Amino acid sequence: MDLVFFGIQGSGKGTQAKTLAAELNYYIFEAGGELRKIKASGSELGDLIKNYIDNGELVPFEIIMKVVKTAIEAVPADQQILFDGIPRDSDQSKAFDEILADSGREFRCVHILLDKDEALKRIKGRAEIEGRADDRDLEKVLRRMDLFFEKTMPVIEKYETEGKVIDIDGKGSVEEIYERIKSAVS
Ligand code: ADP
Repeated sequence: MDLVFFGIQGSGKGTQAKTLAAELNYYIFEAGGELRKIKASGSELGDLIKNYIDNGELVPFEIIMKVVKTAIEAVPADQQILFDGIPRDSDQSKAFDEILADSGREFRCVHILLDKDEALKRIKGRAEIEGRADDRDLEKVLRRMDLFFEKTMPVIEKYETEGKVIDIDGKGSVEEIYERIKSAVS
């Protein structure tokens, strides 16, 4: 079964997703990372999405859905995928469900829970290390968090009603959280 990771910015979602994918042999699809690669390529598409990413806004639906669909099609059917950063709103969720069903894939979700104040503290630390423009600007971080509550939470709630979501307590050390996730999914 595939996995879909959810969590507020700063919850440690990306770090945990990468570690778990490497250990349990999932192909990882990191939506933000894929989009940043396109942005850095200097292509026309890269220029088009640059402003969305730098301002903390979601890139247009067609673009992200095409990127994820292309990635899924390139992965063998028996290779499990870990999705990080998609779906982020209900339109993406509907399309995502369809693409997965059409490919004969099933998924469950991991939601790393952390309160907003704790998440903000962590992002301040990470901005220094990773140098991401959208992390250094508090206004952009808050905008992304607002989008998480407004757009992504309803998606998580929908998957919850379908019994697909495993909640993970996001407080504690990276190692502690990792162990919680690993024992919940394996
Ligand atoms: P974060 O979750 O901390 O905001 P990401 O690396 O996941 O960081 O995403 C960075 C940016 O990439 C987002 O602010 C948005 O502009 C874009 N992005 C990532 N995932 C999606 C998505 N599923 N749909 C639209 N835009 C996305």
